[in-house]
Amino acid sequence: MKIAGFKKQSLIDYSGNISSVIFTQGCNFRCGYCHNPDLVLPERFGDTYDENIIFDYLSKYNKLLDAVCITGGEPTIHKDLPNFIIKIKELGLKIKLDSNGTNPEMLKYLFENNLVDFVAMDIKHLLEFDIYNQTVGNWINKGEFSKILNSINIIKNSRIDYEFRTTIAKNLHSKEQIRTLRKKFGTHYQIQNFNPEIVLNTNLNLEPFSESEYKELFYF
Ligand code: SF4
Repeated sequence: MKIAGFKKQSLIDYSGNISSVIFTQGCNFRCGYCHNPDLVLPERFGDTYDENIIFDYLSKYNKLLDAVCITGGEPTIHKDLPNFIIKIKELGLKIKLDSNGTNPEMLKYLFENNLVDFVAMDIKHLLEFDIYNQTVGNWINKGEFSKILNSINIIKNSRIDYEFRTTIAKNLHSKEQIRTLRKKFGTHYQIQNFNPEIVLNTNLNLEPFSESEYKELFYF
């Protein structure tokens, strides 16, 4: 596992749980609005963590923690993710996994082996190839898009708690498109407003929704 970040304790990343958060390095998308370009663009990669440091901490404080959140980047591009999770599970901790859905085979394996307790999958846009591909930086082909659709089905049909979520930006998603996504994913769907402070692609001139617009979108 290439681990680029480690937050020892968080009360907000896995609702109702005290968790540590692990940020994996590398991603197979290039979303323009990404606020973690240091985890995505190889030319911006920094040093990675020695796993032993993380496991030393988790072993020492596992009784004070409920869970570990694994986010990225994209965690499922790391082939050793399942073994890494097994070692965390042995410490009695739950796992929340964030994913962009490009590795349905690994998700299936993790679910079948009870290695994940909660999964949050990004839904970048309407489930149409052209618009989705544009949103992720023209970085995927149709085969990869099918994998994303497959992951959605696997998650919906699993017995794992789950959430689908979209980072929304004013000049990227229309209100009507957001409404369509909310209708499709129902109570398992969340939106989060684009954060303009750090972005992967500044050329897109993306803008967040205003507070009042966001509130309206949140409830409609
Ligand atoms: S926002 Fe996109 S580019 Fe950034 S980590 Fe998530 S999937 Fe990768």
